[in-house]
Amino acid sequence: MASSSGIINTVCKACHGGCGVLATMERGMITRLQGNPASLTRGTMCAKGLASVWEAYHPKRLKYPLLRKGGRGEGRWTRIGWEDALSLIADKVGDYRARYGPSSIAICQGTGRGYNRYTFRLARSIGTPNVGLPAHFCYGPKLAVFGMMVGGRLYGDYHGWGGVFPKTHISWGKQLEISNADGEMAVWFLKALKKAENLILVDPTATRLSGRADLWLQIRPGTDAALALGMLNVIIEEGLYDREFVRSWTHGFEDLRERVKEYTPQKVSDLTWIPAEKIARAARLLATEKPGCIQMGQSLEAGNNSVQTLRAIVSLMAVTGNIEKPGSMVNWMPPPTGCMEDFATEVPAPKELPVGAEQFKLLAVPPFAMCHMPTVFGRLAEGKGPVRCMHIQGSNPLVAYENTAVVKRGLMNLEFLSVVDLYMTPTAAYADLVLPAAHWLETDDIYDMHPRFMIGDVNKVVEQPGEAWP
Ligand code: SF4
Repeated sequence: MASSSGIINTVCKACHGGCGVLATMERGMITRLQGNPASLTRGTMCAKGLASVWEAYHPKRLKYPLLRKGGRGEGRWTRIGWEDALSLIADKVGDYRARYGPSSIAICQGTGRGYNRYTFRLARSIGTPNVGLPAHFCYGPKLAVFGMMVGGRLYGDYHGWGGVFPKTHISWGKQLEISNADGEMAVWFLKALKKAENLILVDPTATRLSGRADLWLQIRPGTDAALALGMLNVIIEEGLYDREFVRSWTHGFEDLRERVKEYTPQKVSDLTWIPAEKIARAARLLATEKPGCIQMGQSLEAGNNSVQTLRAIVSLMAVTGNIEKPGSMVNWMPPPTGCMEDFATEVPAPKELPVGAEQFKLLAVPPFAMCHMPTVFGRLAEGKGPVRCMHIQGSNPLVAYENTAVVKRGLMNLEFLSVVDLYMTPTAAYADLVLPAAHWLETDDIYDMHPRFMIGDVNKVVEQPGEAWP
């Protein structure tokens, strides 16, 4: 229940970080958001989370379900009730499933949020394998590589819980210092940095850390795989690898040795524009100044060849023995809380493969197989199926996905599109039906999204506008 004054304890859902929040209320309005010092994020919030109050009170919030009146994208709407809106979606889904099969329907969302469970359950209930997320450039490659290479997820051990802090940090295309996303936390990282002896920054542009880095590798964008292979070359050629770890825990080391031979520091310098001596120094520091951690940013996933880039970086962690030791990368899986995943998986997954699965096999791995959205839009743009009907929640493909012109043609060629969002986004403008969503500050929920060693209670702070739905 929202209250008119006082401080409400809640959890931010503006990303999947789950930062603890204290919302100050005065006369029914939020006057301040701040981090909750008693939470695991220790009172820290990022700029995006703090801006949520403006988002919630934005005058352009959607308030009522809207049905398209004119041509697609013309911007003419008529207000309808929720019951009619839901009946329309149910009728369309039933109709497309009966006429063209469940795969003709795609259920889409934005990056991982607390509503993943509903999206996947809805898709499974309909029987469609086509659940669409932007996972192919955000966290999907990382999860796939971690799964393939270590069978879990690798996180930096910044807490000192094993009595040791990392001696060497590599921050690779990531600015963890200003955010708390993906189960990592700025507050712990920054504390651990104070105890570190070496900070290596890999970034083409200056960040808040470049001034304090011992070594700043100002990389040519898109050449991260070459840098990782060059560092592996130095470590292996100079015999600096962790023989015991390699012998006990790795597979294919001799193949790796052969593969990286050609990536000499000079060749890698030509590719990456980083001086050869800096590449060699970074490699030696990681291999000899242990334990060490490597933060891999989402930027590594957003380019070409992201899976192989991440594989090369995880290989760096492995050959230096910086896995599963205090102060290094720890292999961890969130405990099954039974809250999120079970809700989706208790409905059996369809047997059919999602669109794009032939080419992007790692996206189609159960239990949360996804379609490849650029393939879906590419096919739609060419007037090809199987997708004809799409439901989108909390995603704005027209501006979020690559190749806007193709996405736009794809949206135009859909036979039915329903969108749930806070605002009339560029994507929603092409919908047949637009439904108003409640903001996270307007919802009661349970947070158990990403590995934060916790379940959080998301408490409603204010009422939603109009008929927006939580
Ligand atoms: S990092 Fe924390 S404060 Fe920032 S958007 Fe994510 S959950 Fe909210």
